[in-house]
Amino acid sequence: MSTPTLLVIASPSGGGKTSIIKALRQRHPEIEFSVSATTRSMRPGETDGKDYFFLTKEQFEERIASGGLVEYEQLYGNYYGTLKSETDRALNAGASMLFDIDVRGGLSIKKMYGPRSVLIFIAPPGIDVLETRLRNRGTEDEATVRRRMERAAMEMELGRQFDYTVVNDDLAKAIDDVDRIIMNHMSQ
Ligand code: 5GP
Repeated sequence: MSTPTLLVIASPSGGGKTSIIKALRQRHPEIEFSVSATTRSMRPGETDGKDYFFLTKEQFEERIASGGLVEYEQLYGNYYGTLKSETDRALNAGASMLFDIDVRGGLSIKKMYGPRSVLIFIAPPGIDVLETRLRNRGTEDEATVRRRMERAAMEMELGRQFDYTVVNDDLAKAIDDVDRIIMNHMSQ
């Protein structure tokens, strides 16, 4: 019998978190995935209700007012937040759930759920690697790359409060490391 755990995976933008989460979801279909709400526009290939619940600013603010969010942050000019209906879904079903959220959001989850949550920080091997990755991704303009780099320094600092840090200098190894941490917690 595994213990339902809220598994938060966070990293600065370009830290490789998305690839790690994608691999873990394929390996562990039994683990639920928390679909966040956001006001940012949908990217090509994304589906409403699967990647995010895409809301207008007004709809998002209504959710804040009605207590429908466990945590939320404003990132890059948009709101992002974890829906209470998602955490309830996992805890009521006795299932573990993965959260792809930012570092501050992770710390909020820990504050609320304490030992029922595990925070895993994915660190880039170095801040220069992060910048190279962000540029190579080619989806961000120069101003956005600069903004994300400034934020990354703050996130690296906050990440020290996480339960675990996995350095992503080799993607396959980082996936295995995170997998091991998760399996270890779920079997406790
Ligand atoms: P993107 O726009 O690239 O999908 O996400 C930008 C950042 O927002 C990522 O770091 C992502 O993990 C974070 N994020 C996504 N959903 C949430 C959420 O519900 N809460 C918080 N705090 N951050 C989120």
